[in-house]
Amino acid sequence: MQYITGIHGNERVPVVALASIGVPQIVANERALAINQRFIDTDMNRSFGRDGHCYEIDRAREVLESLTDEPLIDFHTMSADSEPFSIVVDKKMIPLAKTLGLPVVYMKRNIKKGYSLINHHDGVSVEAGIHDTQEAYDMTKLIHRRAEFGAEIDVDVYEVYDKIIEPGVYKNFVEQDGFYPVLAGERAYDFFGLKAKKVYGVVGNTKVSKTFVPGSSPGRPAKGVI
Ligand SMILES: [Zn+2]
Repeated sequence: MQYITGIHGNERVPVVALASIGVPQIVANERALAINQRFIDTDMNRSFGRDGHCYEIDRAREVLESLTDEPLIDFHTMSADSEPFSIVVDKKMIPLAKTLGLPVVYMKRNIKKGYSLINHHDGVSVEAGIHDTQEAYDMTKLIHRRAEFGAEIDVDVYEVYDKIIEPGVYKNFVEQDGFYPVLAGERAYDFFGLKAKKVYGVVGNTKVSKTFVPGSSPGRPAKGVI
């Protein structure tokens, strides 16, 4: 397993938490971290695999070149008042995500336009908690322990199928208007959040367990950027 931290420079807690327990990590956006800003030139998690040059695009290229073939865990924190969750863009990463013990959000490639780290390397992104909180610090260390232990945990799995364009008050993973909202609360969103459906877990009194069919795509694909 490889651990990536600090893709966003205002998400410092996972960097410090892993350092505190001596876990090797690739700290992605050191210049933005040094000034506690999300980025220098552009959002690094929209910079992987892009042509051109600026600090984040060049650094994203370096990060990809420094990775081994091992899967990775990419740590983030968020401004949304939400429980922690994990994100995958490839169905085959769902078993790895389940070992982390957090709700799993499966986003198809087109939702991040293909330029996030996990679009370019097998792995899972984690929203470990709210920026600069003790909870996010403790959760980062717990997630690391679970990742190293490697046992799958029975968690809810959500599949994103659209973006939220209606203004409203949404709470992460609390069903409303027929969907489950997924939000990280960053200004980087150009929409309110994402609509997901639960594909594994309990809905009402019923256990749902949808079998994934490669290539099937219920619902309208989202075109937003996060
Ligand atoms: Zn982030």
